Amino acid sequence: IKDIFETMEYGPAPESADVAIDYLKSHKNKFQLFINGEWKAPSSKENFDSINPSTREKLAEISEANEKDVNLAVKAAKDALPEWVNIGAHQRARYLYAIARQIQKHSRLFAVLESMDNGKPIRETRDIDIPLVARHFYHHAGWAQLRDTELKEYKEIGVIGQIIPWNFPLLMLAWKIAPALAMGNTLVLKPAEFTSLTALLFADICKQIGLPNGVVNIITGHGKTGATLVDHKDVNKIAFTGSTEVGKIIRRATAGTGKKLSLELGGKSPFIVFEDADLDSVVEGVVDAIWFNQGQVCCAGSRLLVEESIAEKLYKKIRKRMESLRVGNSLDKSIDIGAIVAPVQLKTIEELVQQGVDEGSKLWQPSWACPQDGYFYPPTMFTDVSPSSTIAQVEIFGPVLVAMSFRTHKEAVKLANNTRYGLASSIWTENINLALDIAPQIKAGVAWINCTNVFDAAAGFGGYRESGFGREGGKEGLYEYMKPRIHEKFSDKPVVKKPKDLKA
Ligand code: NAD
Repeated sequence: IKDIFETMEYGPAPESADVAIDYLKSHKNKFQLFINGEWKAPSSKENFDSINPSTREKLAEISEANEKDVNLAVKAAKDALPEWVNIGAHQRARYLYAIARQIQKHSRLFAVLESMDNGKPIRETRDIDIPLVARHFYHHAGWAQLRDTELKEYKEIGVIGQIIPWNFPLLMLAWKIAPALAMGNTLVLKPAEFTSLTALLFADICKQIGLPNGVVNIITGHGKTGATLVDHKDVNKIAFTGSTEVGKIIRRATAGTGKKLSLELGGKSPFIVFEDADLDSVVEGVVDAIWFNQGQVCCAGSRLLVEESIAEKLYKKIRKRMESLRVGNSLDKSIDIGAIVAPVQLKTIEELVQQGVDEGSKLWQPSWACPQDGYFYPPTMFTDVSPSSTIAQVEIFGPVLVAMSFRTHKEAVKLANNTRYGLASSIWTENINLALDIAPQIKAGVAWINCTNVFDAAAGFGGYRESGFGREGGKEGLYEYMKPRIHEKFSDKPVVKKPKDLKA
């Protein structure tokens, strides 16, 4: 029996791609820009390819928006604003509920399309990404209903420019669009160049539910398109999620313009394991922390900090678990790790891993090889890592875990905070008092205890230091899309009477 199991090939259990292929065909595999409620060819007449990273096959052609297109999209959002504000909070809530229901109705199409475009396992898109997207729209539909009672002292900001990354394409769109619409703004969103497809499907959903024209505009393109949107004078706020490097460029570009800004940037989050932790749970936690979505997660627990007394035991358990993980085509339901989004990202991971080896850290990878037909990378762990080495400091944004050990609780906190980032943290111990003592000492926007990667629309998410500022989700997230009404009264129509005792 042992031999049978050892030689047994696990047959693929593919999810059918048909639903997504039919959708792509409905656009003749060539997508235009979604401006003012209509599909519009790009002024540049330029297109680029969207590739399935599991197969290297071309999925569709995407339009490259230039300055003229950005101007049209911003104008559409500006023109749509008065009507969108005037229809009132309850009517806006109805649109958000309608979007949420359509996402649920088409959840399989969204999940398959997302997995094909991004390379992430279908199990993740089906069970995590898309349900969270629907939840985000439902949650914010609720807030839209409460808008005029709970938040009446605030008003919308106006036209919002939103720029998102490729790691959670539709979820990042939801985090941006749902609160913006709920608080009465109109918007122009640019998805990442590697993963535009679900944002374009979302545009079709907006059309289908009869969202007023111009309220949501989706323009596709590369960084230059994003930069043009950032610079547009009629954009009142920029909401950006992406790398710290581009976040810094955007902060410089918006400085002194009066534009409101929120930045959700990179991370190098600590995953701290104390000696009394339940190690089997820890191992599964590590799998979730660094191999979920191929490690392409801003809050990935990419730095494993282990109490020295249990370090070797834990590494051994993790190595054993790494052997049993499966890498493969994103539509295969039996895989744990999908494809890396694009060759350029794969190259970055390979280079950083080589640097880790060159710097003297010990590399662990499973004995099996990845499939060759796509952009795959195996689960990887480094031990014997110096805290100042490149791989301990730089966000690798791939399935690469960097492990270090500590002797005292004080040292654990020091190591955890030895980073320029501050997005998330995860603490593992059976002693809740210890966990509650350590958590507030870690400089991070999120502290998870005996769990990791737990998200909810009702909980604000965001970072400190070079992980950015501003919050998405929860009540805090709403304030990113509102400004105080009183401010308007003072600046537009002065209502303050001169105090009697002031003669001048
Ligand atoms: P990126 O910064 O390269 O690109 C993000 C977006 O910005 C893309 O749409 C891109 O086209 C656009 N862009 C590029 N240059 C621009 C410019 N000069 N002006 C305006 N827009 C520009 O990031 P990425 O590689 O797509 O995403 C990975 C990064 O995102 C990681 O660092 C990750 O940690 C971060 N991220 C953070 C969060 C969070 O909530 N904190 C969530 C997801 C991802």
